[in-house]
Amino acid sequence: MRKSIHKWKARAKCAGCGRPYGNENGFPDLIIEDWAWKRISPTGNDGGLLCPCCIIESLYDERIECKGFFGSGGLTMITEKEFLELRKLHCKEDKK
Ligand SMILES: [Zn+2]
Repeated sequence: MRKSIHKWKARAKCAGCGRPYGNENGFPDLIIEDWAWKRISPTGNDGGLLCPCCIIESLYDERIECKGFFGSGGLTMITEKEFLELRKLHCKEDKK
């Protein structure tokens, strides 16, 4: 079981640009709402794999706005409000 996951990961790539899957290739999981994914899925039936850049490009092409998050990679997702508060806090610390 585990071996087959490793094999899949080694072969998996973006259907849009061919970028290989995996954090080490700058290709973390960008997870979007199901209804939006069904509209941009490269297989047309909610299957397939797209990198974050190709997902964003497809959403733009289809004029879709939806919610999403990175399910892997080195980012912890926060809201815009939390980000702005964090930035304010860091600016105050930099001025000390
Ligand atoms: Zn891509």
